[in-house]
Amino acid sequence: MDEKKFDLRKAQEALAEKTYILTEEAKKNSKFGKLVFEFPQERNEVVAEGDPEDFVVKPQAYFRGASQIPGSEFNQSYQIFVKPFFLDRIQHRHVKDEFLVFLGASFPNVFDFDARIEFTLGKGDEAETYVITKPTIIRIPAGVYHCPLNFKEVNKPVLFLATLFTPMFGGVYDLPDGKTMEMYYNGPVPCKYNPDKKCDSCGKCLQESWENK
Ligand SMILES: [Zn+2]
Repeated sequence: MDEKKFDLRKAQEALAEKTYILTEEAKKNSKFGKLVFEFPQERNEVVAEGDPEDFVVKPQAYFRGASQIPGSEFNQSYQIFVKPFFLDRIQHRHVKDEFLVFLGASFPNVFDFDARIEFTLGKGDEAETYVITKPTIIRIPAGVYHCPLNFKEVNKPVLFLATLFTPMFGGVYDLPDGKTMEMYYNGPVPCKYNPDKKCDSCGKCLQESWENK
C-alpha cells in the first residue's frame, strides 16, 4: 500500500526552528513575538500621605497595555494589599469601562476574604458608597464618576485587579479647586525608545503595530 506518511520528525524539526526563548532579539526576528510579553517587576512609587509604604506586596505586576503589547485595548493591575490604606481619593471618570476585582489572596482559596473596603460610585447627589466585605467585581461604565476607594480594614491579603479598556491608564480627575484635569499614568517604567528616560506617558508607542514589518 502506497501510503503518504506524515513525517513527524520533519515537522518537529521545523517547529524547533521556530521555538523561542523570550529575548528582545527573538522577538525582533519572529512574527508573533510582539504578542508575548514578560511582566517587568514594578515597585509602587506613589504613596498617599499618611499611608504606610508597605501596604502592598513588592514587587508588583501590571499590564501597561499597548506600550507593552502593541494594539492592546486594555490595561490591568495585579496587586496584593496587606494593610489598610486609602488608595484613590480623587473622583474621576474614564472614556471606557473599568472593572474592579477584589478577591482573597490567601491562595489557593480566593474566597478566603477578610477585609472591609469602601467604594463610591456616582457623584454629588447621586453618589452611592458600597462596602465590600466579600469577593466582588464592580463595573464602572464609561463616563461614570467613581472613588474614593478606601481599604479600611485588611485582615487577610486582598488581590486587587483594576482593568481599564483603554490602551493606557488615564482619566479625567476632579481637583479640589473645582477644576478638572486629564491625567495619564503608565507606571515607573523606562521609555520604550530611550531606556535612559522614564516613561512620561506621552502615548507615542501606543500607535505601534504588533506586526513586525
Ligand atoms: Zn477609575
